[in-house]
Amino acid sequence: MRLLVVEDEPDLLSVLVRAARKEGYAADSAADGEEALYKAQSTDYDAIVLDMMLPLLDGWEVLARLRKTKATPVLILTARDRTTDRVRGLDIGADDYLVKPFDINELFARLRAIIRRGANQSRTVLELGEVRLDTAARTVTRTGQPITLTAREYVVLEYLALHRGKVTSRTTLYEHLFDEDEATLSNILDVHIYNLRKKLGQDFIVTRRGHGYCIE
Ligand code: CA
Repeated sequence: MRLLVVEDEPDLLSVLVRAARKEGYAADSAADGEEALYKAQSTDYDAIVLDMMLPLLDGWEVLARLRKTKATPVLILTARDRTTDRVRGLDIGADDYLVKPFDINELFARLRAIIRRGANQSRTVLELGEVRLDTAARTVTRTGQPITLTAREYVVLEYLALHRGKVTSRTTLYEHLFDEDEATLSNILDVHIYNLRKKLGQDFIVTRRGHGYCIE
């Protein structure tokens, strides 16, 4: 899962990006509205965290322009006591909002919810044969037994699970799992898939030659 975090306050931006990576997300950042719009249009993010008061283009303008071409889930950050800002953001097409200052755990809970909705999954628990994925608690069991996954293995699994029945190409997986700052090794995805199969069963993730991966 790859996020774009848009915030012009450098300390808050770096806290948010670090927290997102710790959660296993790939996270890109933008510190003004123009950079945000450019990145949001050129990459298929799983969700965008968008501050409203930004230099160059404000958050409403970014959102309004983005919505002409893309339905990427967007969570807006607004200042306290500005109810009209939130209403305006939701009217333009924001999926959710948080008022500053906010609790970081609440931010991630809300992001998980808009990512699920973006993938047309309203339920938090996904049953995939003997594997059960709780996307709210971020836990995985196989035949009732808890399975320990690394943060990155979890996001690979969650992405494939949210898009189950469809083949996800390696290019798409790379785009959703690694951010602009990561030197991506070409075999790192294979390592995650290998580990997931070892933990969840060899046939759990199917390789479609020349196309990509799929959970059926
Ligand atoms: Ca701001």
